[in-house]
Amino acid sequence: MYESIGAELRALCGKELREATDREVYRALLQMVQRRAAEQSRPVSGRKLYYISAEFLIGKLLSNNLINLGIYEETRACLAEAGKSLAAMEELEPEPSLGNGGLGRLAACFLDSLATLDLPGDGIGLRYHCGLFHQNLKDGVQSESPDFWLTDDCWAQRTETVYPVQLAGTTVQARLYRIAVTGYQGRTNQLNLFDLDTVNEGILGEGISFDKADIPENLTLFLYPDDSDDAGRLLRIYQQYLMVSAGAQLILEECAARGCDYHNLADYAAIQINDTHPSMVIPELIRLLGEHGIAFEEAVEIVTKTCAYTNHTILAEALEKWPLGYLEKVVPQLVPIIRQLDALARTRTEDTSTAILDGENRVHMAHMDIHFTHSTNGVAALHTEILKNSELANFYRLYPEKFNNKTNGITFRRWLLQCNPKLSREIEQRIGPGFKKDAGELEKLMALTEDREALESFAAIKAFNKKQLAQWLYEKQGVWVNPDAMFTIQSKRLHEYKRQQLNLLFLIHQYFQIKAGHKPAVPLVCIFGAKAAPAYTIAKDIIHALLTLSKVIAADPKVSRYLQVVFVENYNVAAAEKMIPACDLSEQISLASKEASGTGNMKFMLNGAVTLGTMDGANVEIAQRVGQENIYVFGRTSNQVIHRYQVGDYNAHEWYEGDPNIRRAVDFLVSDEMLAAGREEQLRRLHRELSGKDWFQTLPDFNAYLVRKTQAMMDYAHDPEGWSRKCLINIAQAGFFSSDRTIAEYNRDIWHLG
Ligand SMILES: *Cc1c(COP(=O)(O)O)cnc(C)c1O
Repeated sequence: MYESIGAELRALCGKELREATDREVYRALLQMVQRRAAEQSRPVSGRKLYYISAEFLIGKLLSNNLINLGIYEETRACLAEAGKSLAAMEELEPEPSLGNGGLGRLAACFLDSLATLDLPGDGIGLRYHCGLFHQNLKDGVQSESPDFWLTDDCWAQRTETVYPVQLAGTTVQARLYRIAVTGYQGRTNQLNLFDLDTVNEGILGEGISFDKADIPENLTLFLYPDDSDDAGRLLRIYQQYLMVSAGAQLILEECAARGCDYHNLADYAAIQINDTHPSMVIPELIRLLGEHGIAFEEAVEIVTKTCAYTNHTILAEALEKWPLGYLEKVVPQLVPIIRQLDALARTRTEDTSTAILDGENRVHMAHMDIHFTHSTNGVAALHTEILKNSELANFYRLYPEKFNNKTNGITFRRWLLQCNPKLSREIEQRIGPGFKKDAGELEKLMALTEDREALESFAAIKAFNKKQLAQWLYEKQGVWVNPDAMFTIQSKRLHEYKRQQLNLLFLIHQYFQIKAGHKPAVPLVCIFGAKAAPAYTIAKDIIHALLTLSKVIAADPKVSRYLQVVFVENYNVAAAEKMIPACDLSEQISLASKEASGTGNMKFMLNGAVTLGTMDGANVEIAQRVGQENIYVFGRTSNQVIHRYQVGDYNAHEWYEGDPNIRRAVDFLVSDEMLAAGREEQLRRLHRELSGKDWFQTLPDFNAYLVRKTQAMMDYAHDPEGWSRKCLINIAQAGFFSSDRTIAEYNRDIWHLG
């Protein structure tokens, strides 16, 4: 091992390890990993998967690759011997934040599991120059700055492969970049990312603004540019088409090279469409097959057999509907095909609600996906049931055989082995190393639930991780939290449906309690991590209210001994890896029916946190596995919520007026204390929103939330052993949520690879 790293280094700069700079060592490690990854690639025979996704939130890759290649420990020891720290190298690596949140992170976990299970499956996406914006929290307000991740030492390797793509009547050249995806004791697959050589980072203006009209210069500059105006929405269509057209050409070329004549494309390729962003791959493939002489009807059949679609949300605003005029401008070559598909779909049913083109000439991307792929899956059992029974019921009646569920998962290599080495070692000592490849083996830990000594060692690891997080928060943000307190964490994108505002109201209530002399059973540290979309006003107001409350509490020493509120700046994968292992109580408090699955909930569970949650998304399946004693469930059920939306009788103002507890908490937003510490416009707007509209029904769940959270705090304080048992049971039951299980199910039911 020493020889290997040393050899890479000498080749690179003629230096010995000891004399090389950290950056030189980092570069040498990167090259070593890439060479070893290449050795693990294997020829493909039979069917190969292409996972097309606008997002791959891969996070930093160095440690993950070293772990998957089985050389992490040796590398660390070798560096340490030369006086170098692997952790320092990790800090040098910029995080590729090529995703917004759960959907993009899922795609990254899936690539890891495909390679680990030795399945041939590559990703197709875009090489954004800036990933998700960098969040700055100054003076209680979020601002955004660009997050460049493309440095000289970069995992994405440029290739000489380019494909022509027609955009708005001109032809651009899409260049292929590749990132090796290593499996854990498995194979190496590829993440294929397309870009234009003409993109110009120099056109960036203030913050993250830029000229949206100059397509050749801006096309891949940003992940999901702000789409609050027409130029931004058009840019999204440009991005999507670049991805699917170059991706479809790559797929056809690779299959042809393996002997496919395109009539039998489905024997060579399976294409998974991750949400509706890549949906144009359907008409694009039909168009390209047409160029190879395959008639429309047969092309439709081939594409239907090849493609499958994953639905990620029932939030109406997230289901893409593009005005046909936009497509006529950007991709006129697809418009006749989309019209033909619409006509064909209309021959299958009288029900016009399933049409692709609606009365306002908008193209419903999800409708095209369901008609012209062979599989539509939801991402958790409850979500799939809601799709079948309400959101997509008309489609389910038409194609019952197409609908199936694939409950999401996470890769245990990153979310246990990498982020929580102490816990992994402890588990390995107790039950052996088998759980790393077969997550179901974690259940062997159930034998230890009455073993006091074991419970104590697991509790000691949590205490250690909390100290580490406290240290990190201090170094990063200059705040000192009490590591002996109970840590509750809510980290995920900021969205009203995820209800950070419910947590906010709880914290205000807790502040009152402490001021009135009712000390909590245990000091509480509440940690948030969340980015708000740049144009999402209320989400930014919620961030402002949390930051302002945090300031008010910190300034009151009588309260701050018992309650601290911390907002982690710029939540991303690297931050998640620090936060999750240190959590006692995992906040999964979305409005029931709105969170399709969640994956943060699984990461926390795996790291021995207990969930406080609504019966939403995969929380339902977590509860089934751990049992009611090992999770804190509260709130209205999804049926109640769906019914309430149908009837349309929710009246926030009545709840606000009718419950003095609620009213007092909401009114505190515009109290003298808050107004003195924060900004009036933002606080008043949030107050109006909560007391007058509250679209995600925070107020009806407030009291139930308060009761369950207080109960969790009491249990934590008064029965430490019982609490440790709950934590251990959560770890032991987390095996089902491995993305290895999810991928095995996709392969069994949808892809049939190899
Ligand atoms: C897992 C993850 C998410 C998704 O979290 P949810 O709680 O499921 O919304 C978002 N962002 C990052 C950085 C993650 O690692």
